Amino acid sequence: MSQLWPSTIRARLTLWYSALLGLPLLIFAVVCFQLFARALQARTDLFIADALHAVAREVVAERRAAAGVEDAIRTTLEEVRFQELHVVVRDSSGRLVAIATEPGAAPSPLDTIQFPGHPGDTGTFATRSVTAVEGSYRLIARPLVIDNRRFVLTGRYSLAENEAALAQVRGIFVIAIPLLLAVAATSGWFLAKRSLAPVSSMAGRAAEIGSRTLHERLPVGGGAELVHLSSVFNNLLDRLEASFEQQRRFMADASHELRTPTAIVRAEADVTLSRNDRSPADYRASLQIVQDAARRLTRIVDDLFLLGRTDSGHLVPRPGQLWLEELLHDSTHGVRQLAETRGVTVSLGVVIEAPFEGDADLLGRLFLNLLDNAIKYSPSPGKVTVDLSRVGEHYIVRVADQGPGIPSAARERIFERFYRLDESRSRTEESGMSGAGLGLPIARRIAELHGGSLALGESRPGTTEFIVSLPVISPLSRASSPR
Ligand code: ADP
Repeated sequence: MSQLWPSTIRARLTLWYSALLGLPLLIFAVVCFQLFARALQARTDLFIADALHAVAREVVAERRAAAGVEDAIRTTLEEVRFQELHVVVRDSSGRLVAIATEPGAAPSPLDTIQFPGHPGDTGTFATRSVTAVEGSYRLIARPLVIDNRRFVLTGRYSLAENEAALAQVRGIFVIAIPLLLAVAATSGWFLAKRSLAPVSSMAGRAAEIGSRTLHERLPVGGGAELVHLSSVFNNLLDRLEASFEQQRRFMADASHELRTPTAIVRAEADVTLSRNDRSPADYRASLQIVQDAARRLTRIVDDLFLLGRTDSGHLVPRPGQLWLEELLHDSTHGVRQLAETRGVTVSLGVVIEAPFEGDADLLGRLFLNLLDNAIKYSPSPGKVTVDLSRVGEHYIVRVADQGPGIPSAARERIFERFYRLDESRSRTEESGMSGAGLGLPIARRIAELHGGSLALGESRPGTTEFIVSLPVISPLSRASSPR
């Protein structure tokens, strides 16, 4: 079955089209033929019955002049002749009284045919069709009662003409139906071809689109359904193109970021090794620079790895019961030394008790990134404050510093990967604390992994505030195992 059923839509449509047209056509032809055949037979029966009736009437008229009933019958049959109609009269015992065939026709064995039983006295007719070597005939018998004697009049009419007419009609159907089917199949084939042409051109265009030609789009047209299909496909291409572009930019930015520290390592090693008379202090200073560059490299690679895993969905948080205020306490404590060297004080402001279900390592990373930035961009001396409160069904963590602020045009861009404000970049690079522009994107992804968000709150020269919002009922709580 599956082998018989065509694989192309065009062939299937053609088959359906032909079948849907062919079947009603066939039914129509059969019904028409049957109706026509019945009408012909009814006409024939009517003709025979009328003729027999006329014969009967004539026998009654003839009886007045004739000597006996049988004479009257014989005379009538001599005089009343019908084209193609053979009339036979028998008496009630079945004895042949008279026979009238066409002029010159030989008596046929068919005229000996008798009806099983007699037609009723009340003028009922008995009908029957017979087929013999001579051809097919229609036989009708009717009673004739005269002078209290019962006779049976039988009329036999050749069906040759009817059969010829039916054969003609059949012939017309046999030619016309396959012809119509062929026309239906051909037009179905062309119609299918026409309606599927836009699909073919879409497929052709789609096959040509590669990673270098992602800006190309499919032709839109060919009916509402196809317009929808091509629009859906084009939207997919839009997203693919955007994602490819993002990926390309990411690769370019990542290699750019990695180039600086690797260049420093190489240049430092080259310069130091170019002379043999270096003092241990020179080597030490050189290795210090190499160590800083290596640290920076490690940090960038770690950040990229973490972001890559969140993108691919491979970063699965390991949730556990924790207290956010404790985590904040640990985080501020961890950066205190760094802050002191920069002349910045880090302190916890208003803090509530906040039991939470989340990944302590990731959340620690989030707070550290925010604190790191706050310290980096704080003036010296400066103050960084951390607050923890609850608003509705969310815990709100605010990390505020007294830094230069972030221009409103960059409010969202700072969450893009590798984005850095030029000003701050040069300033922090001088101080050796330059980041790669990955801290905030990572922090935001961690907040999102916990069903929360990270946004920049108020930011102007002297005050910058980052706001972390985490749902009190963490989405990770279902996944966590009870401790
Ligand atoms: P980086 O590692 O360079 O700090 P981030 O993604 O953490 O990267 O931050 C992106 C940029 O946002 C920074 O380069 C800086 O320009 C700006 N930024 C982040 N935090 C602050 C802040 N507290 N004050 C001022 N600017 C900030």
